[in-house]
Amino acid sequence: MKKEIELLIELQEEDGQVSDVKEALASIPVSLLEKEKVLERLRTKLAESSVDLEAKKKSLRHKEMELLTAEDEAKKFRVHFYQVKTQKEAESLDHEIKKADSVIETLTGECLLLMDEISEKEKEQVKKKEELAGFETEYLERKKKAETDIEGLENDLQMLSAKRREIIEKIDRGLLCLYEKIRQNRDNLALSRIIGDTCSACSINLRSQLLNEVKEGTRIIQCENCLRILYV
Ligand SMILES: [Zn+2]
Repeated sequence: MKKEIELLIELQEEDGQVSDVKEALASIPVSLLEKEKVLERLRTKLAESSVDLEAKKKSLRHKEMELLTAEDEAKKFRVHFYQVKTQKEAESLDHEIKKADSVIETLTGECLLLMDEISEKEKEQVKKKEELAGFETEYLERKKKAETDIEGLENDLQMLSAKRREIIEKIDRGLLCLYEKIRQNRDNLALSRIIGDTCSACSINLRSQLLNEVKEGTRIIQCENCLRILYV
């Protein structure tokens, strides 16, 4: 029975490695997906910022047209001012000129403000584009590495599976069934080493008769608490 136990220990080591490789394989797409989400967020932010920038530019063009019209109007009033004949007409035109100048002042202020905002936005855009480009490069490198990693891990898995087949061929079917049943129910660990007089997997104290039987190795002994196959 000692030989069988040795084979089971070997099998448990293999199964542990298979489980680690599978876990590593499963974690790769998750970590890539997280990166993709960040990338998507950065792209959306940049697109939103571009829309905002275009709206500001359009608004500036509109204001500049308004300003030109107001300046033309003020010019016409001024030309006309020298041609008026009555005091009343002069007062009325003066009032119009002041009104037009006030509109020009307001529009000039608004244009300058928009120009500042556009300039700030453009600087922000440059930063955002750089950030996105950096992240895209990082993502592509990560993706390439992931592909290599997946290939390596799949090779490992194939080798481990071949080794596993070799081991199980040497194990009695009934014992193998017991091993698999416990493994499935006990977190991938079907065997437990005895340390001192306790089962190392569930930490329960074992009866001395049970301990002796395990040491003798004449039959398969399971922990009375966690049901794992015990060995020393
Ligand atoms: Zn136990």
